[in-house]
Amino acid sequence: MRSVAIVGANLAGGRAVEALRQAGFDGRIVLIGEEPWRPYERPPLSKEFLWDPANVPDKFFLQDEAWYYNNHIDMRLGTRVEAVDLAAGGVRLNGGELVVADKVLLATGGHARKLNLAGADCANVHYLRTRDDAARLAADLRKGARIVIIGMGVIGAEVAASAVKLGCDVTAVEPLAVPMERALGKRFGQWLGDEHRKRGVKTHFNRGVTGFKFANGRVSAVELDDGTLIFCDAVVAGVGIVPATSLASDAGISVNSGIIVDRQCRTSNSAVFAAGDVAEQDGFFGGHIRLETYQNAADQAQAAALAMLGKEVNYCKPLWYWSDQFDLNIQFCGQIPVQAELVLRGDMESNAFVAFFLSGGTIDGVLTVNRAPDMGIGKRLVERRTKAVPAQLADPDVSLRDLLKQAS
Ligand SMILES: Cc1cc2nc3c(=O)[nH]c(=O)nc-3n(C[C@H](O)[C@H](O)[C@H](O)COP(=O)(O)OP(=O)(O)OC[C@H]3O[C@@H](n4cnc5c(N)ncnc54)[C@H](O)[C@@H]3O)c2cc1C
Repeated sequence: MRSVAIVGANLAGGRAVEALRQAGFDGRIVLIGEEPWRPYERPPLSKEFLWDPANVPDKFFLQDEAWYYNNHIDMRLGTRVEAVDLAAGGVRLNGGELVVADKVLLATGGHARKLNLAGADCANVHYLRTRDDAARLAADLRKGARIVIIGMGVIGAEVAASAVKLGCDVTAVEPLAVPMERALGKRFGQWLGDEHRKRGVKTHFNRGVTGFKFANGRVSAVELDDGTLIFCDAVVAGVGIVPATSLASDAGISVNSGIIVDRQCRTSNSAVFAAGDVAEQDGFFGGHIRLETYQNAADQAQAAALAMLGKEVNYCKPLWYWSDQFDLNIQFCGQIPVQAELVLRGDMESNAFVAFFLSGGTIDGVLTVNRAPDMGIGKRLVERRTKAVPAQLADPDVSLRDLLKQAS
């Protein structure tokens, strides 16, 4: 391989470039990104960035500008790829230029899903995916501002916590019974909802939004399906992402909920790879899955880089993510099985606990709250499909490290 074109210059694209050079690849790398910024971290956008957008720390970017220069990366920012042109052997940019490459990596992620309501594009209705989105949102999170959050998934719940920290008056609306229900299940979602309420978030769960009221061209109130009107200064919708799969599907590459890849991150076309939020891959517990997490984007991109170089790769990892809300560090690895046996270590009232989700005696999932060091072991317990005795897992005097050692 002599040349690579990487489409999407954020986390997956950025990590792939680094991995290629670290592995000794000295051919041409063209990194093309639609945003005007070099690869940066999205997790701070719902947290630190909102608290203080003027003071973006250096570590916000994956690398400083000099790194790309010194590593001879042909970086095209503010540039959109319009097509993967398989016949011409490359990708076509919005200006018409063809970038010819032996291999193409699609690291196009996704964009925030818009609400399907009249007024969804009003200036005070926010979606959060990019740095520019976060800057616009931060300007509306003024002390005392009435903010309505629509959708209490990870992004909605994090923005709710940040808005409270900034002194806003926050109301959260969620069609499911509890926040982050898909990620945490009912019981821990209930716990999280209680934590939000304790800190001042007003909640309307099991409720949908039916429309907006307007004043001076802005949304002035959100109407719920029970007729409730919530008056507001701004709205934040956290209703998921739409994966950017069209380059692949237009090129005849197989797409389902994402671009389908094998464990070498290869798509249905052997010269085209995909990684990150846009890729649908083999699930650790079977089936196919598209993960929208930081660690997956970083690790899968690295795997894709090595696979493009012809190295042996077998990428298949369980889900792992973290979320920071108020003083709560929440981490989850694995899955919550349908008939999970739940084992708790620590007590939930103290907001420092570990929950294990077992299926037939095997640890399928681990949740930690303010117990980040335990997740280091927790991840390995899940990855190694460890069998464990519930009484030992629950006993804080039994070291998790010892359980891991015994199992292996
Ligand atoms: C606000 C926020 C907070 C988050 N917090 C956490 C967290 O706490 N923990 C966690 O695990 N995960 C978190 N995530 C998720 C994590 O950031 C994503 O999983 C990760 O960014 C995915 O990286 P990616 O490179 O696959 O996709 P993206 O980050 O979406 O990057 C894709 C890039 O491709 C570009 N692109 C798309 N199409 C084209 C095209 N045709 N031409 C050129 N460029 C194109 C896009 O503009 C974009 O810059 C958060 C995400 C957000 C939005």
